[in-house]
Amino acid sequence: MRTPFMAGNWKMNKTIAEAVELVTALNKNVGSVEGCRVAVCVPFVDLVPVAEALKGSKIEVGAQNMYWEEKGAFTGEISPVMLKDVAALVIIGHSERRQFFGETDETVNKKVKAALAHGLTPIVCVGESLEQNQAGETESFVSSQVKGAFEGISGEQMKGIVVAYEPIWAIGTGLAATPEDANRIVGLVRSTLAGMYGDAVAQEVIIQYGGSMKPENVESLMSQPEIDGGLIGGAALNAPDFTTLVKEAARLKG
Ligand code: PEP
Repeated sequence: MRTPFMAGNWKMNKTIAEAVELVTALNKNVGSVEGCRVAVCVPFVDLVPVAEALKGSKIEVGAQNMYWEEKGAFTGEISPVMLKDVAALVIIGHSERRQFFGETDETVNKKVKAALAHGLTPIVCVGESLEQNQAGETESFVSSQVKGAFEGISGEQMKGIVVAYEPIWAIGTGLAATPEDANRIVGLVRSTLAGMYGDAVAQEVIIQYGGSMKPENVESLMSQPEIDGGLIGGAALNAPDFTTLVKEAARLKG
């Protein structure tokens, strides 16, 4: 049995005051909800105050990116050694980082290894573009991203990694993948992992769906057998919507 896991990706939103207000409300709403793991992945400047506000809470704190080196002359970057004091998780390879900041399967792989080496749980994002989807390349592209991201990672390590399947065309557009398509590609991620590590490992890996998950579609998405949770952008920016998503995940799969 995999525990459902709902994680918010705030992207470049929320000042410190706004961040603390949001997590304080979330903690009131879902701090005692059982049967669902919950995290907020926040901008770097919000990490310390959010971690402080969530001390003792079940809500986990994550970052949205990191560099793979431990320290040194890398202006503007944050290392896993610095992150691990305030974060338990880190998103790696989000499509916006691949698209705007030159992230590749190779850099994703380096970051996954560095995160694991320092006890951070990576949430690794994969997903195809609209053009790839329309060209029928989704399966081959997503499975090659999975193989690239986890090259050199052991089966034991893989069990502790979270994967998020996020079709790029569904992110921030309001247009989610159909539950059946999302389930099929999450299943493909799992079978790719089964090919790499065997079925027992693949069955333990938490695989989220991301892309316009919201109160209106959470039930149909989370009812799918392969989908273990959500990586949620827009609907994680306000307490009532994110609360609904967490409670629905707990109700359906907790
Ligand atoms: C995301 O940021 O990873 C995401 C899925 O965003 P949204 O939920 O807004 O589509």
